[in-house]
Amino acid sequence: MCETCGCHQPREIELNRDILSENNRIAEHNRGFFKEKKILCFNMVSSPGSGKTTLLEKTITAMNHDEKLFVIEGDQQTTMDADRIEKAGAPAIQINTGSGCHLDAHMIHEALEKMEVKDHSILFIENVGNLVCPALFDLGEKKRVLMISVTEGDDKPLKYPYMFSSSHLCLINKIDLLPYVEFDIEKFKEYALIVNPDLKFIPVSAKTGDGLEKWTNFIYDLRSTISSDL
Ligand code: MG
Ligand code: ZN
Repeated sequence: MCETCGCHQPREIELNRDILSENNRIAEHNRGFFKEKKILCFNMVSSPGSGKTTLLEKTITAMNHDEKLFVIEGDQQTTMDADRIEKAGAPAIQINTGSGCHLDAHMIHEALEKMEVKDHSILFIENVGNLVCPALFDLGEKKRVLMISVTEGDDKPLKYPYMFSSSHLCLINKIDLLPYVEFDIEKFKEYALIVNPDLKFIPVSAKTGDGLEKWTNFIYDLRSTISSDL
């Protein structure tokens, strides 16, 4: 648990409230910047190892011809994911949070000063793998995309409700492994809809590319339906 979260320490609640309201202020600033530059921004959240980077690599390969894509990578250490993204063909910047376990709006603001994200582009922010505190930190994104892999429990929505209730879309990844794991997709969706009745689902396999087109269509649709109010 990073020092800014301190969720388990009641005496820090006041401090947390200040941190979150300051975060929200900067998130609104980021949102204004995205709106002005007509940048469509996604905040990608998940547990570690669910396959966010692999999906982003495939997404870049699939969309690079039509769209300008940029990526901000969040991990505690290393630039491995940013290196993978650049190899896939999109400019990427890596944020290392050290002992911190989430990205906050200020880190995104700083990254935006270092990387020139072009007007009318799509920006993916890959958050630190963690289903707990990234739920609390608005980054200024248009949509929060939660990835869950079928190697995790189908009871995750009930255990980590804040992440599910604050997300717009849930990508259910690694569906190529469904025959080998005890993951009941229908039960999972039922649980997720209890905590967030508006949540949408797209089953995918970042490995085989199954469902990838539904995901890219989701992005293209969003791009065309909201580009006027972005
Ligand atoms: Mg990653
Ligand atoms: Zn944290």
